[in-house]
Amino acid sequence: MSSSVHDNYEAVIGLEVHAQLLTESKAFAPVSTEFGGSPNTQISPLCLGHPGTLPVLNENLVRYIIKMGLATSCDIARKSIFARKNYFYPDLPKGYQISQYDTPICHDGHIHITTDGIDKKIGITRIHMEEDAGKSIHDQDPFNTLIDLNRAGVPLIEIVSEPDIRSAKEAYEYLKRIKQIVQYLEICDGNMEEGSLRCDANVSVRRKGQEEFGTRTELKNMNSFRNVERAIEFEIERQIDLLESGEKVVQQTLLWDADKMETRMMRSKEEAHDYRYFPEPDIPPVVVTDEMLEDIKEDLPEMPDVRKQRFIDEYDMSDDDAQTLTEDRYLADFYEDVLHHADNPKPVSNLILTEVLRTLNDRSIGIKEFPISEERLAGLVQLREDDKINSSAMTEIYNAMLEEEKTAEELAKEMNLVQVSDTDFLEPIVDEVIEEHPDEVERYRDGKKGLIGFFIGQVMQRSQGKANPEMVREMISDRLAQE
Ligand code: ADP
Ligand code: MG
Repeated sequence: MSSSVHDNYEAVIGLEVHAQLLTESKAFAPVSTEFGGSPNTQISPLCLGHPGTLPVLNENLVRYIIKMGLATSCDIARKSIFARKNYFYPDLPKGYQISQYDTPICHDGHIHITTDGIDKKIGITRIHMEEDAGKSIHDQDPFNTLIDLNRAGVPLIEIVSEPDIRSAKEAYEYLKRIKQIVQYLEICDGNMEEGSLRCDANVSVRRKGQEEFGTRTELKNMNSFRNVERAIEFEIERQIDLLESGEKVVQQTLLWDADKMETRMMRSKEEAHDYRYFPEPDIPPVVVTDEMLEDIKEDLPEMPDVRKQRFIDEYDMSDDDAQTLTEDRYLADFYEDVLHHADNPKPVSNLILTEVLRTLNDRSIGIKEFPISEERLAGLVQLREDDKINSSAMTEIYNAMLEEEKTAEELAKEMNLVQVSDTDFLEPIVDEVIEEHPDEVERYRDGKKGLIGFFIGQVMQRSQGKANPEMVREMISDRLAQE
């Protein structure tokens, strides 16, 4: 497709994001939500939809969603109700899901995203509470689909955006922002690959300048941030191609196939009336009091933007560095924990922004899986700050620390990297180097001052990297200035 045709169109995107909440028990039953239990061990008659059981609302579900609402500038409904969303599916033994319909507890909020340096506000239509269904497992038995109901009744929130998103990249940024917020609030671990954060994307295109929206499709099954971006990109192209060849976009639900990198038909779009929503008769309305709201507000942690600004002010950090460090709440926590052990904001942030991030990236791990503890890392920075090791030794010791549970000090000794600042030790080496390189000495004295690096290098080599380079520099330039 030529880009000029593409330029005549604009994409319109709205996201529906489900976040699995980190409550200890299920939404309406006193049953553990812990991940990884043997199939069908975390269930009760309620999760199985036995007749005569009565749901009891988990108060933390309400507290968590209100936190999310406050963090996204939503209005909080003082009274909202649950609704039954009826549909039949093998992993939903009740035959309905408890959700919210026309009275979501949070509504009319927004978040800010930055794409290519430009700030934009994305509206949030609503955030409501619901419960998860169980899990159908298709790949463990050659003939049958197996059902695990441990997940049935695990609390979810659904965050529905306004159709304010205009590109795949903006959708990606929006999603990253949602992940950041739920992690800061500690209400969801934000892991898309493991399904604790799930995203459906509604996509349509329209000719530029056209007022009304085009027909949309809904994309499902995108289990990573990159896949969301790729799927939307693909779908925008597909729809433009259709319109350009005189065809119509059909409203339907599509599955993203990450291997083939294409979307395919899953089902025609269901309508709200297909679900026969009606008010849940077994749960009283959720009433949010002033007291509760105040209490939750006080409980809100420092949010990303505030933390970023604090890093800039308190640690004298650049905007970019503060942005990188606060993007992931756990990385920001790690940074400040290291500072508790070694109060050296600049060298600590330098080390994290270079070596540590490189390690995380190379190993595709998060800071929680990082093998060096805050205390050990602080020890390494301290050693360098006390001038006991030079910067190349620091890198060597860092690499060793990734493999061995030892302190930087222990490793520095073991690896013979403790820096020598002792002139009695260094002087003979400096003398030797100068004596053996009369030509270089002459050229240096004739004005080729850059050769100082050569002499330092020689001394470093002969001291097996242990010499304090600043000291060596001084000694050499003193020596060569004489005579
Ligand atoms: P449904 O109940 O079918 O899921 P909603 O009206 O609740 O539909 O909208 C779901 C999502 O689709 C919202 O995020 C909304 O912003 C988005 N959306 C609605 N219309 C369009 C459109 N024409 N193009 C793209 N997204 C849309
Ligand atoms: Mg929907």
